[in-house]
Amino acid sequence: MKTSIHPDAHVTKVTCACGNSFDTLSTIEEISVEVCSSCHPFFTGKQKIVDTAGRVDKFKAAREAAEKAKAEAAERAKKKSAKEDTTETEA
Ligand SMILES: [Zn+2]
Repeated sequence: MKTSIHPDAHVTKVTCACGNSFDTLSTIEEISVEVCSSCHPFFTGKQKIVDTAGRVDKFKAAREAAEKAKAEAAERAKKKSAKEDTTETEA
């Protein structure tokens, strides 16, 4: 092992967004994470969505808008076909 080329490793405290913290060895002095082994769905077995940029809400809004447009189009098609039916009976 060459001398003076290796960074210092020291005991580092890892803090999670869920409040859990534990110690490990690292060259970084402090680590903060979003998920850890005590709150990750793989270990807890519960479903959890990490939505930091509001992408889930954005997707839900887009889905709602699409459903609304679909319903309106169906309503229009229904009215149109009803109109066509009346013209056919008149003629
Ligand atoms: Zn955690």
